[in-house]
Amino acid sequence: MRVYVDQDLCISCGLCIDTAPAVFQWNDDEKAEAVEEEVPSHVEEDAREALENCPTDAIKEMER
Ligand code: SF4
Repeated sequence: MRVYVDQDLCISCGLCIDTAPAVFQWNDDEKAEAVEEEVPSHVEEDAREALENCPTDAIKEMER
């Protein structure tokens, strides 16, 4: 699974970082970003939960 955060949609609510701290982090613009594009398999479930719960659908899964 590969993810990124659409910076125009992120409202900095922090939910994804609470849900999946190994996958998402704050960037210098105080928006969320993926720590790494490629999500490590052991935290993929957390990443997917964060993706599904993002209030603005800012978290996108990249096509393979
Ligand atoms: S859950 Fe969505 S809106 Fe909230 S910080 Fe994460 S990417 Fe941004």
